[in-house]
Amino acid sequence: MKVLKGLPVSDGIAIGKAKYVNKTKFKIKKKSIKEEEVDSELERFETNLQNVLAELDELIENFSLSKDNQDILNTHKMILKDPDFIEKIKKMISQELMSLEQAIKKHFTDIMAIFNNMENNFYAERSSDYEDVAYRFLKHAMNIKSSDFSNIDKNSVIFIDRISPSEVTKAYEREIQGIVVDQGSKNSHSSIIARSMNLPMVVTSEEHKKKISQNTMVIVDGSEGKIYVDPDEETLHKFTEKKKIIEKRSQELEKLKYKDSVTKDGKKIGLMSNIEIPEEIVQVKHNNSAGIGLFRTEFLFIDRENLPTEEEQYKIYSEIAEKVAPHPLIIRTIDIGGDKLSSILNIEHELNPNLGCRGIRLSFENIPVFKTQLRAILRANKKGNIKIMFPMISCVYEVMKAKKIISECKQELDKVNEVEIGAMIEIPSAAVNAKSIAKECDFLSIGTNDLIQYTLAVDRDNQTVAEYYRPAHPSVLQLIKMTVEKAHKQNTKVAVCGEMASQEQFIGILLGLGIDELSVSPAKVLRIKEKIRNTDIKKQKEIANKMCKMSTEKEVMDFLQRSER
Ligand code: PEP
Ligand code: MG
Repeated sequence: MKVLKGLPVSDGIAIGKAKYVNKTKFKIKKKSIKEEEVDSELERFETNLQNVLAELDELIENFSLSKDNQDILNTHKMILKDPDFIEKIKKMISQELMSLEQAIKKHFTDIMAIFNNMENNFYAERSSDYEDVAYRFLKHAMNIKSSDFSNIDKNSVIFIDRISPSEVTKAYEREIQGIVVDQGSKNSHSSIIARSMNLPMVVTSEEHKKKISQNTMVIVDGSEGKIYVDPDEETLHKFTEKKKIIEKRSQELEKLKYKDSVTKDGKKIGLMSNIEIPEEIVQVKHNNSAGIGLFRTEFLFIDRENLPTEEEQYKIYSEIAEKVAPHPLIIRTIDIGGDKLSSILNIEHELNPNLGCRGIRLSFENIPVFKTQLRAILRANKKGNIKIMFPMISCVYEVMKAKKIISECKQELDKVNEVEIGAMIEIPSAAVNAKSIAKECDFLSIGTNDLIQYTLAVDRDNQTVAEYYRPAHPSVLQLIKMTVEKAHKQNTKVAVCGEMASQEQFIGILLGLGIDELSVSPAKVLRIKEKIRNTDIKKQKEIANKMCKMSTEKEVMDFLQRSER
């Protein structure tokens, strides 16, 4: 047994045979043609060329594609549009009487051989571009379906160079056990999707993969990032048992899918999902969650050179709103820190981006960009289930200013549906001023990730100070309590959409503090629903009130443990 270590990107255990999903080996049967077939073969070339180019265009326009991938596909288009390429293929067909497939294969194999013989990385990379183009073209010409993993047994772990978000979705639908990729990172879109689908995934290296041959038994431990190759009996048994426990648990949770999210003492709690990219909607639907409580729209503004157009945004928002209707879709307007956006919005470098031009401040600095997003949202609200939420609100004035801009957008547009407005409460001043903010809003949503960061003055992404990041610190609990009490006096509901809502241990406290709705990671919906259903609000209220009066997080956590016993 060998144990290889990779990067863990999606939890869970996969046990199965290693199946390499590499480029399909094309068997070209018809190598030559007759003279009288030349015209039809040339016509076939033209049709397939146009189809491949159209497919590339479609992929490039795909909203979930990263800038890097778009660049690669644009290079592929250039290869196919190269007059030299077109002329050579036509010549091979008409003069050398080669079939289209044979001509394509020969052309690209020759080019790749030249590049491969050059001892230079740059050219080796170009070679793989040519391979990709040849692969795509042959797939079209030979009418071979794209990789939907339909020929892969469900008891397999797929090994693939890189995987797109839609391919992760396909692997999930095919009930593939797990995924091992060469290229990827924790925050890539494919990893986000794998996590939200509970599909174990590890990123490893080409080097590692060489040590695993096709059909070898493997265990992938997605939480540790480990791959056990050809495991011994004992290891196999240990992980089979572990996997069984996880599966049993998720089967139990599946039973809750159509049950209400209501506490033991009868309070109905709205339980929604947070999404970062549109593909996550699959899991939102799968878990039957009551809509989307936070749609982070940052993916539209990062990793690309151009700002998203109103039309592009309109298309995305409409599609998701349609899919979750009649449930709500809460779209949060752009919320990025200065440096991340500098390439498209020319924001100056900031020494302290978390306290700088982020969230609503960034939108106020870039009114045309803000208005484009708002117009797209307003137009997309055809079913009336979209709500708008503003990030990083520090006082009611910002809500009023944002609402005024919405009114201007409405005037610029033809008739649009009414839209509810909400503010995120993630800055302590907003919690303290929750009364006036609630008066201006239809709903509030507490972003605990930032609320903790700003209350305790601890950078949420800085590992060195991670021990100071204390979600259950009494001051954080008091701010939540304060927000709820002030908002309820205005008859405004309060949700929590920060990570705290996805952590089972905090559900009792949040509900005890009076929270009305929770918006959680799609993979956690059922676990949180189970927790809600086991909560007795009256009892939790007492506990939470006591906690608010404590002095340290440790006291709160100790008390929490004791009260759960
Ligand atoms: C939060 O701050 O809790 C939140 C939900 O927003 P984000 O994590 O996107 O900052
Ligand atoms: Mg936030």
